[in-house]
Amino acid sequence: MTTDSAWRTEAVRKLEADGNRSADTHLFRLELAGIPEIELYFKDESTHPTRSLKHRLARSLFLYAICNGWIDKGMTVIEASSGSTAVSEAYFARLLGLDFIAVMPKSTSPEKVQAIEFYGGRCHYVDKGSEIYSAAEKLARETDGHYMDQFTYAERATDWRGNNNIAESIYRQLARENHPVPEWIVVSAGTGGTAATIGRYIRYQRFQTRLCVADPEISVFYDSFLESRDDLVIDAGSNVEGIGRPRCEPSFVRGVIDHMVKVPDAASFAAMRVLAERVDHLPGGSTGTNLYASLQVIRDMATAGTSGSVVTMLCDPGERYRETYYADDWLAEKGFHIQPYRDQINRFLDTGDWQEVEP
Ligand SMILES: *Cc1c(COP(=O)(O)O)cnc(C)c1O
Repeated sequence: MTTDSAWRTEAVRKLEADGNRSADTHLFRLELAGIPEIELYFKDESTHPTRSLKHRLARSLFLYAICNGWIDKGMTVIEASSGSTAVSEAYFARLLGLDFIAVMPKSTSPEKVQAIEFYGGRCHYVDKGSEIYSAAEKLARETDGHYMDQFTYAERATDWRGNNNIAESIYRQLARENHPVPEWIVVSAGTGGTAATIGRYIRYQRFQTRLCVADPEISVFYDSFLESRDDLVIDAGSNVEGIGRPRCEPSFVRGVIDHMVKVPDAASFAAMRVLAERVDHLPGGSTGTNLYASLQVIRDMATAGTSGSVVTMLCDPGERYRETYYADDWLAEKGFHIQPYRDQINRFLDTGDWQEVEP
């Protein structure tokens, strides 16, 4: 099949023009009063036009698919997603005049569904997170459409050596800081694409920075890393939207990761709330996971007497989770006890003293 070359040329121009109209995302600091020798930064990915780090991924996936001749004029684009990717892809599909269908677990937050529909996308629900892949493949066959498959292609659709990817942007923005080369960059993994891009960039640039990946409770990534296995599967979906997977996704590149931390879901939600109280930004759940893992890395640096900087990410905005992670009755109903972790985090931020939480 050869794609319509006039359409393709125009589609690439529209994507590039959209990028050219957009600004870079900010790097802001969280004050660590109790650990003054260490600086913690958040790359705020919630300021993209579609409000999450998936904006970068969606643009890359469309460019990759179009340049590969996989998407043509009038085609339907289908994606398996826990929500954020579908929001961003719906935006780009509309920009290109393509129909878009998101295949999502029925537990996906109503705010994300609204955002997808706002951009003209349609939502197709499945009962469990593990069913999204086969349902998306089936829809693609039935509609003669293209299944984007972020979990396979996230890792390779992004230019990892530079081209203003997220890693290059972080290092550029750190240039005038006390410690321009961070000791650690801490991210969480959904596709694993962000970790792959940052990890490869660190090595390509020969930086001493190490990459830590935080995994939520219900996910195989942590065990897959520890045991060097790609065949682990579980039959449940993560409680932290956007991160943690029931299978070892092809885009999860273990070899670029230096360290992994398993974060209890209650700790993620506690960290998210603490951050919301201390900065003028409202983070989503995975940002809490990132913060909690970052604090453990910072604790270990402080114990070892190392000063330096740590960079993590604000992945998406808390407005999407007002009815869930920010609702006390939702947390209670699901059995998440966040108070012990809140106390632990506040104490550590204020005094530098880390007290373990009794399980
Ligand atoms: C996708 C996602 C992540 C993880 O990013 P990947 O590059 O897919 O690993 C983190 N937080 C949120 C909210 C996400 O949607």
